[in-house]
Formats: sequence, C-alpha cells, structure tokens
Amino acid sequence: MKNKHFNIPVFIPEAACPFQCIYCNQRKISGRLHIPDDDEIIGIIEERLATIDPGNSEVELAYFGGNFTGFSLEEQKHYLELIQPYIRNGLITGIRLSTRPDYISDKILDLLKIYHVKTIELGAQSLDDDVLKASKRGHTAADTEKASQIILEKGFNLGLQMMIGLPDDTLEKSVYTAHRIIEMGATETRIYPTLVIRETLLEKHYQEGKYQPLSLDEAVNWSVQLLKIFEGGHLKILKLGLHPSEGLLSGKDLVAGPWHPSFRELVLTEIWREKLEPLMHESGDSILIEVPPDQINCAVGYEGKNKKMLMRSFKVVKFRINSDLEGREYKVI
Ligand code: SF4
Repeated sequence: MKNKHFNIPVFIPEAACPFQCIYCNQRKISGRLHIPDDDEIIGIIEERLATIDPGNSEVELAYFGGNFTGFSLEEQKHYLELIQPYIRNGLITGIRLSTRPDYISDKILDLLKIYHVKTIELGAQSLDDDVLKASKRGHTAADTEKASQIILEKGFNLGLQMMIGLPDDTLEKSVYTAHRIIEMGATETRIYPTLVIRETLLEKHYQEGKYQPLSLDEAVNWSVQLLKIFEGGHLKILKLGLHPSEGLLSGKDLVAGPWHPSFRELVLTEIWREKLEPLMHESGDSILIEVPPDQINCAVGYEGKNKKMLMRSFKVVKFRINSDLEGREYKVI
C-alpha cells in the first residue's frame, strides 16, 4: 500500500483564451505568458521524481492553467502522450487537470480516459447564474451540472473549484454553491477569494466604485462557513485562499482584495477561536490545552491569536500535543 501522495504540477496557460472573465488578466498579459516546451515539462517531472520514493508514493501529474480541454484534441494528445512512459513504468500513477465546465464533451472525456487521466477539476466558481453572468464567465450553472454528471458517469474523480466575493455574490449564494458542489458528487474542492488584478475589467469596476472586494475578515469568515460545509460532506479542500491565476501574478499585479500569504491558517485559526472561546467564561491562574499533533499551530492561532485571547482570562496558557486526540478534539487539563 502506497501511503504518500504527490502532485507534480505543470502550469500550461492558454495563451489564446477566448474568454474574458471579469477578474482575469490573461488576455492582457498573454505576451508575458510562458508556455513550457516538452523538454521543460520532462525536466519538471524528472526533477520532482528524483525527490520521491516511488515504492511508497502515489504520484499524479497535474496539468494546471485553467483550461486544458480548450486546447485542440491534437494538442491535448501531445501533452498527455508525454506522460505515458512514466505511467507505463509505474513512476506516475495518473494525471489530473483543470478546465472549464463548458469544455467537456463525451469525445474529450473518451480521449482523456485513454491517456489515464483520473481527476478532472472544473472551475465552477459559482453555481448562481447571476454571479456567473456578472463575472462574465461565459457559462451557466447548468453547464457545470451537465459536465459534472458526464465526468462522473465516465468514471473520473470530480473536483469543483469555487470563488467567493465575485460580483453579485453573497454569503448565501456561496453557501448554496458549496452545498451544490457536494450534491453534484465532487470529492474535492478549492476555494479562491476574488482579488482585483491589474488590467482587468474588475479593476475598472473597482476604480469606478462599482465593485467592492471582500475584506480579509469577510473572506476568512465566509471561508470558515464553507470549510465546515465541505468537511461535513467529506470533501478534500485542496486549496484555500490563493487566486486561480497565482502562477501569473507578481506583487504589482494585485490592486485590492483579501490576499494573505497564510490565508488557510487564518481560517483554521478562526475555527479554533470559536471552539476555544467558551473557555473564556472560566478563569484561573493557568490552563493547559491538549490538541492533536496536526492542529497545534492553528489551535495556538496565527501569530498566537487564540493563545492571546485566552490570556485575557488566564495568567498562563499552554498548549500540548496529545496523539490520542483526533480531528479538532481538545482536552483541558
Ligand atoms: S479565468 Fe480562465 S477562462 Fe476566464 S479569461 Fe482567464 S484564462 Fe480564460
């Protein structure tokens, strides 16, 4: 049994994306996009494989960049064929890719199946048609529902990515989207807060006062609610808090929005804050809280936030690992 999982990410932007999603600057910067050639892709794979123990690891090649199935069938075949020698010799176990919901068809899926694609991630972004329209996504919620259905029927794993804080979005609409993502059969998701990126239509709307991004606190609070919904549905949350075009961004591309380098940690800190807050009703000289090993950082909180909160009620606050605890259990000693 292989007990470790690795992705080897290869970023292939679509230089001629025909869409103009309101938040994306891919069109404007297409001249700056770097599309890796075959040697570079092989180089990325070899370099990563050299660090992985093949006997103990599941390794997936991940083609990211937004719209893999927007390439012609010939181009898709080419990128997939590059990986086949590694699949034949067992060093790579499968391929995952991300794409748009309206670029899925039986013909495309049959091709992907032949080449050992296992997981398809769709950029659903929202399952509310008004949000999709205001964001100029160029597809509807029904497109995402239909694509998801045929992806599952053909035996692929389904990932559905969502964005929060798009134009016309509300917390209620994001909560609805999260519930639909679970009902539609996804087993994994990514949550991206919307950022205002330079040279986008969203930047223009922001400068004109027609669009206001979520504040960092709002984005964290929305994400807390979504994370709980996804955890309740047993979905894997692969990413929380970076933008889909992160590979394209440099610091000066960000105009406004809830960007934070430790966004996921902020969200998990807030979840622990809610759990630990009732302890504030007690008081005393000291308190020792035991938590599972993988939770210690978020229980203490980003920059010690939760510890500092408890120090308003206790003179000494200590956290300790207890390997018998699971999930987000804790014990007060
Ligand atoms: S987000 Fe993706 S589909 Fe939309 S414009 Fe950018 S690259 Fe194209």
